[in-house]
Amino acid sequence: MAPQQEYTIDQVASHNNEESLWIIVDGRVYDLTNFADLHPGGLTVLLEVAGKDATQEFYGLHRQSVLAKFGPKYEIGTIKGVKPKIVLQKPGDISKVPYAESSAWQGFYSPYYNESHFRFRAAVREFIQKEIIPDAVVNEESGTIADQELFEKMGSFNLLACRMGPGPHLHGRTLPGGVKPEEFDYFHELIAHEEIGTLGAPGFQDSVATGMVIGLPPVLHFATKNVKEKVVNQVLSGKKRICLAITEATAGSDVAAIRTTAKKSPCGKYYIVNGTKKWITNGTFCDYFSTAVRTGDGPGGISMLLIERSEGLETKAIKTSYSAAAGTAYITFENVKVPVENLLGKEGQGFQVIMYNFNHERWFIVATVTRSIRLVVEECFKWAQQRLVFGKPLIEQPVIRAKLAHMISETEAVHNWLENLTYQMTKMSYNEASIKLGGPIALLKLRCTRVAHNVSDESCQIFGGRAITKTGMGRIVEGFQRTYKFAAILGGSEEIMADLGVRQAMKFYPKTAKL
Ligand SMILES: Cc1cc2nc3c(=O)[nH]c(=O)nc-3n(C[C@H](O)[C@H](O)[C@H](O)COP(=O)(O)OP(=O)(O)OC[C@H]3O[C@@H](n4cnc5c(N)ncnc54)[C@H](O)[C@@H]3O)c2cc1C
Repeated sequence: MAPQQEYTIDQVASHNNEESLWIIVDGRVYDLTNFADLHPGGLTVLLEVAGKDATQEFYGLHRQSVLAKFGPKYEIGTIKGVKPKIVLQKPGDISKVPYAESSAWQGFYSPYYNESHFRFRAAVREFIQKEIIPDAVVNEESGTIADQELFEKMGSFNLLACRMGPGPHLHGRTLPGGVKPEEFDYFHELIAHEEIGTLGAPGFQDSVATGMVIGLPPVLHFATKNVKEKVVNQVLSGKKRICLAITEATAGSDVAAIRTTAKKSPCGKYYIVNGTKKWITNGTFCDYFSTAVRTGDGPGGISMLLIERSEGLETKAIKTSYSAAAGTAYITFENVKVPVENLLGKEGQGFQVIMYNFNHERWFIVATVTRSIRLVVEECFKWAQQRLVFGKPLIEQPVIRAKLAHMISETEAVHNWLENLTYQMTKMSYNEASIKLGGPIALLKLRCTRVAHNVSDESCQIFGGRAITKTGMGRIVEGFQRTYKFAAILGGSEEIMADLGVRQAMKFYPKTAKL
């Protein structure tokens, strides 16, 4: 940063041309003479504000991150007697924009959280903003997966372990914010997923361990002791990566239609796997694949195998609407040898292994998507305040306030139901939750992705052309509108969630109830 000095507005006013081009943003003076030729928006727009206070113009066109990145290089001083008013976000900060955070973090009472949850969120947020967000924006754009170093940092911070819920895998670990493993509950896990949902980079967000969140549970709950000890530690430390491979080109919603086969070798020591898998998140870069295979006929002929990347297993990237950073893969298995110890659960009981984690997977999807929706709402609220149209901020238009009202109320409704069901998870045994929560979680996922649809639609209208522009002010809204549909398809499509939710409710419908 250049030496700092105090200036008067008149002093700045004389630097109003190409030879000496200064501007004021929020009480700070920037000398842009050497930057003028590099300005992506061109010289003319800079000359329009040269020598003047450009705060409004700046925030009408740029994010804070631009100032954070370039500001220190060009700042030469401040305006005498003027204090900067705009608060620059620091890692770990909680947003003060109404509805931008879970209400308990904005001064509302909640029966669900204690002091450990606040410590936990603060620590996780700071870690994510310092260690993950810088890579997220760059890698999302370039389609580069998260590197090994970042995975290992998430491992040593125990963020990976925290995303697998409460349980024995946490024993002996120091959790973010100093939370003790015995204090850790589903609300801590909810917070961990929510914070990942703040990345605003959908492909990279999946890159940082969606495969693990859905692919490790079959190993945690159904692997033999030896396999579990080896694989769980490798994955939770970030040294190895895992994904869930169920879907095939001919078997999506209808899991029972899978065709990939696993036949015992004549020596009885291996399964020989042949077949394909499609749309496998993180598949391009994983070391382990929790894979649904056919060991016999019919629904009772499905088994789950942990398959290590080895000879005969190949992955290639599928071009989807989001960033290649997610590592979405098409997988081929050609005579892949898998030790029989890698069977997860019992042969022929693969369906039960898959079903075991369905509620948790759907709950996790809702947690991250709802947080991403909230981020879009915050973006819209800020943009509506900053953007001047017809000489006044967008927020002055009643129709824009009505859009925000719908977005906020729908988001809060989903989040409040999510918290309620999370509370049930903290109280119910696994068996009770399986019986009672399958239907409500399915309906919650349906509502969440419908709200994502509505919020995306309204946010695009609020952002206008920027909603379809990948960089700049609309970056987050653009990414969301391009990818929000994913959650409405994976983990059970909306139609299937709706049907499951009502069929489950019908099971509890009292025969005595009549109009
Ligand atoms: C981004 C992304 C990531 C994914 N990651 C993974 C992964 O990591 N691992 C994995 O195994 N799979 C993954 N999948 C696959 C995903 O689980 C499937 O896409 C999903 O199960 C739907 O299958 P399908 O796409 O073949 O659609 P289909 O099964 O062909 O269904 C098409 C549509 O038909 C309708 N439909 C189907 N059945 C019914 C019914 N009974 N009643 C009413 N309507 C119905 C639904 O609207 C559905 O969306 C991913 C998919 C996407 C898009």
